[in-house]
Amino acid sequence: MSQDELDPLDLFAIRGCLTDEERLTQDSVARFVAAEAAPLIRECFEQHRFPQELIPGLANLGVLGAGIQGYDCAGLNALSQGLICQELERCDSALRSFVSVQSSLCMHAIHAFGSDAQRLQYLPRMARGELIGCFGLTEAHGGSDPANLRTQGRRQGDDWVLNGSKIWITNGSIADIAVIWVNTAQGMRGFLVDTRLSGFAATKIENKMSLRASDTAALFLTDVLVPADALLPAAEGLRAPLSCLNQARYGIAWGAIGAAQDCLHTVLEYTRSRELFGRALAATQSVQIRLADMARRLSAAQLLALQLGRLKEAGQLQPAQVSLAKWNNARMALDIARDCRDLLGAAGISVEFSPIRHLLNLESVVTYEGTQTIHQLSVGRALTGLSAF
Ligand SMILES: Cc1cc2nc3c(=O)[nH]c(=O)nc-3n(C[C@H](O)[C@H](O)[C@H](O)COP(=O)(O)OP(=O)(O)OC[C@H]3O[C@@H](n4cnc5c(N)ncnc54)[C@H](O)[C@@H]3O)c2cc1C
Repeated sequence: MSQDELDPLDLFAIRGCLTDEERLTQDSVARFVAAEAAPLIRECFEQHRFPQELIPGLANLGVLGAGIQGYDCAGLNALSQGLICQELERCDSALRSFVSVQSSLCMHAIHAFGSDAQRLQYLPRMARGELIGCFGLTEAHGGSDPANLRTQGRRQGDDWVLNGSKIWITNGSIADIAVIWVNTAQGMRGFLVDTRLSGFAATKIENKMSLRASDTAALFLTDVLVPADALLPAAEGLRAPLSCLNQARYGIAWGAIGAAQDCLHTVLEYTRSRELFGRALAATQSVQIRLADMARRLSAAQLLALQLGRLKEAGQLQPAQVSLAKWNNARMALDIARDCRDLLGAAGISVEFSPIRHLLNLESVVTYEGTQTIHQLSVGRALTGLSAF
């Protein structure tokens, strides 16, 4: 391959490793994002609103529950699911977060741990975007230690009564159905809670400086009476929500690449046209070194995601591998976004250029679904066989 053929955003030709179907998926999501989402996103970020008007289009693309076979879902392979996340997050982490929560956290929970009746009742409607889900695990006293849940579920005849609260819940105030994780006399269990039930309330968190185009809420459950068939029968103990989180973290490892690519693309264009000291900024040695370093980190993250996808497809993916990739790729994107912001100078603090928006979003991405520290401890446990949590 000659130098002229190198794609600066894909130096190791990941696209050349994809099947026709994977490329088709990537291209159709990229087209939708460019035509429908990109024109809205800056305004949504500024207005602190999630673009709900995009939900039917996302559903038509088949990205909701894309990895699930049957139930009107697309049944796409692991690489296609990753590419969907990459293309969505190229626009904004909020779009990928919406799809991750709907697909990897909620639909996966129902598919993996629900009854046949629950799968039939919810999955086709969630794939069509007619029902929106949220995933309530985190509580105010500490998200990094989810085993320590204070939200309680107690039996009342055949029914259950739920009490407690959840915080930082993506899609929380727009959700029709909430997957709520609670402590019961038999340990941790998951429930599918209709958000219209008496005693359920969601309050949108209004003052975020990150993921401003995402809906985030606090959930309050006060004597919420749910029927026995709201219980996810196969979700017993912490392994159930952790399995959902692993699915979502896989998507984050891919999504972060899209955010980093958009930042690098923006800054390559800018530094070519910005003239300082009589030459283009891009023709300056120290600037090229910084750009090359971004390409190095991006390329390593892309190769990591590709191998992660292959392992997932082969059914061999280990949680520590997902932890390392989520940690590495979110950190990679955050560092690139910050360096790109700096290379834009004062213009970099304006949302007219995407890096500051990606940078602010990625502060959440590096924190949610397990902070960097928590993933480092997971990798440390895999290396040593000793848990330091
Ligand atoms: C925008 C956004 C959306 C979110 N969406 C959801 C959602 O949809 N559903 C959901 O359930 N949750 C969601 N979360 C919550 C998220 O998963 C938690 O914020 C995250 O797990 C961290 O928990 P915490 O905020 O309570 O921080 P804490 O757990 O209080 O951690 C604080 C700091 O202590 C560090 N720390 C923790 N334990 C250790 C240790 N053992 N050793 C050293 N350092 C440690 C952490 O790394 C961190 O730096 C969301 C969060 C954000 C910001």
